[in-house]
Amino acid sequence: MSQNVKQAFLGSFFHTPIYGSFEYLEDALIEVDAAGVIARVVRKDDPAQAALINTYREAGVLTELGENRYGLPGFVDIHVHAPQWPQAALALDEPLYVWLEKCTFPLESKFADLDFADKVYRDLVNQLLARGSTTTVYLGSAHLESSILLAEICNAKGQRALVGKTVMDDPAANPPYYRDASVQSALADVQKHIDAVEAINRNSWAGVYPVVTPRFIPSCTDEVLKGMGDIAAKNDVYVQTHCNEGQWEHDVVLERFGKTDPYALRDFGLLREHAIMAHCPYLTPEEGEMFAELGVTIAHCPMANSYFSSAVAPIQRFRSQGIHVGLGTDISGGYSPSMYENIRQAVLVSRLLETGVNAMLPPDARGGLGEGTRLSVVEALWLATKGGGEALGLPVGSFQPGCDFDLQVVDVKRRDGDLTGFRVFDAPIDRLARILYLSSVDNVRKVYCNGKLLRDKDLEG
Ligand SMILES: [Zn+2]
Repeated sequence: MSQNVKQAFLGSFFHTPIYGSFEYLEDALIEVDAAGVIARVVRKDDPAQAALINTYREAGVLTELGENRYGLPGFVDIHVHAPQWPQAALALDEPLYVWLEKCTFPLESKFADLDFADKVYRDLVNQLLARGSTTTVYLGSAHLESSILLAEICNAKGQRALVGKTVMDDPAANPPYYRDASVQSALADVQKHIDAVEAINRNSWAGVYPVVTPRFIPSCTDEVLKGMGDIAAKNDVYVQTHCNEGQWEHDVVLERFGKTDPYALRDFGLLREHAIMAHCPYLTPEEGEMFAELGVTIAHCPMANSYFSSAVAPIQRFRSQGIHVGLGTDISGGYSPSMYENIRQAVLVSRLLETGVNAMLPPDARGGLGEGTRLSVVEALWLATKGGGEALGLPVGSFQPGCDFDLQVVDVKRRDGDLTGFRVFDAPIDRLARILYLSSVDNVRKVYCNGKLLRDKDLEG
């Protein structure tokens, strides 16, 4: 037994180390070191495997996934509005500005109350973990204290998290009851937030990182946008915001600056490496080249785009341009906290983008982009795992040596969730497709982040 190995996991695992394909590790042994990092993957055809299994079993450090269970990497959800959790599923038939004014701003303003924030944030983190999300990128509310509290809760629960305090300072664009009081106070709070989250991270197991978070250009003044770009550079931290979310945002920014959202964000210093730009369906090929050069990340939010963007983001084009792309639930522009649900929607909307949708027009006039547009479910899984890891520059999302061991164990034979398909079609891709399309929260039984068991529903009952 290698001295370094502290735990070992025996079972069958699916993962997507390379975009476009998956690997099925049948009856494999994964060795995890004291830091929660994968030391080695020993396949079943390796002659050393049997002896290693015995050694780890005798040492009491072997975990067997068990019959009808499969391991998948923990999901990486790169766009979640934490304070919008109580709003999930509401007002999705409204345009964005009505949705914001009717529900979002009144709701987010309640997070000045730390007791309320504590209750909501604890529940949200639990619900995301229960669905296999081990890394999450959060936008907090505009309040400094509750956004620090969110980072503390993620850290206490063991979830890897990137957390931002949302900035929205323009008095002309935000309601008086919910906005940053001034440019100076907004920028001071951003720096305080970075310092506080970095202090939490110093004692964190899985990692908690600060994110400079302007809500989006229309809610911020030029001074605050410039100031936030400077703060991000000075502190060398992540940035996240919305980019090109819909036609309205696109037009407002163009009118205000005479240039599009991506160039305006770049000129404020907000397009740093691994800066997370949510949505981006309007991104032109030229803007995409600029994203790829700068190492910017796109958070693909297929649900929210369907509700609010009037467009489908061309993910295959983004990928072929070499842009980092991950997947986001976008609670609550998307209603579901489940990355499974968003994997399905990513595939589904790509089919609509491929063909176009107005059957009253001839096929070549329906607006479809044609061949090479659709995503496979395996590609969507990559976006939700390995792609998310690459997008954030973190070693997560696959079962490769050197990666943090983030695991969700899926039981395909629950009483009300039999995903075996009666074994009629039983190739590995069939098993994986059923897991991705048909799993419910009950099928996800155990969740580990960085080698640590965070949820064990078998024990929880
Ligand atoms: Zn969003």
